[in-house]
Amino acid sequence: MSVSLQFENLRIEGSSRAGDASWFRIHPPGLAFDVGRGSLALAGADDVFLTHGHLDHALGLPFVLSLKEMQGVESTRVFCPADTVEGLRRLVEAAESLERVSYHYELQGLEPGDQVSVGRDLSVEAFATDHVVPSLGYHLVRDRRQLKEPFRNRSASELAELRSNGTEIEDVNQELWVTYCGDTGTGVFELEPRLFDSTVLLLECTFFGEASRSRGRRFKHLHLSDLADRVRGFRNRDLVLHHASWRFDKTQIRSAVEQELRGLEPRVHLLMD
Ligand SMILES: [Zn+2]
Repeated sequence: MSVSLQFENLRIEGSSRAGDASWFRIHPPGLAFDVGRGSLALAGADDVFLTHGHLDHALGLPFVLSLKEMQGVESTRVFCPADTVEGLRRLVEAAESLERVSYHYELQGLEPGDQVSVGRDLSVEAFATDHVVPSLGYHLVRDRRQLKEPFRNRSASELAELRSNGTEIEDVNQELWVTYCGDTGTGVFELEPRLFDSTVLLLECTFFGEASRSRGRRFKHLHLSDLADRVRGFRNRDLVLHHASWRFDKTQIRSAVEQELRGLEPRVHLLMD
């Protein structure tokens, strides 16, 4: 089962529960953040960004590549933390050997700070996160163009001429449109403080309630109290929580969010069944 959330001209589709499966598709540009254990909904993604090698996030890679092979897709770009390239390559090779086919894909390791163009005015930038295996988070960055002040009253033909002369007529501001942290402990807040300013922040929140308070620290996941400690820091327009443990149902989670994230709660969305 997947869930779809619409934010103006951005649509996020996905499914995420701890230890089960996590994957998201972000439209535009239609890319995938993680692939869970595989889903038909991922077959249309040209670009796949994996946050880490845990199987609930990455096992579906050969399945997705296999689906795309059946559809005759030319090639898929797969990006992942540099330290997971070899393991993922062997996983895909095992599947290719079982299926007696070669999938068309490129696998590229990324380091924090690396950027990849994913469409007109859109790019993805990797950043460091805090998990028990090598991991990255990703910003979907949007270039927002605005005519420079002196050119705002010019006609379309004048602007076209200025452009053809090579005049820079636009200012470009980069917006962190969507930020996805994958699985992470609280270290991410120091490693990547820019996440507090992204427009839409997809943040894992695995644990809730007093009884599971220490679990987040042990497994490098977030507990709702970690968000409550920073409640005034989140300047995001929308905060999407996902990756809740199956121990907690949506009603319990909604009421915990209402109690512990006062003030932030109207901007909080739950991506879960
Ligand atoms: Zn994990």
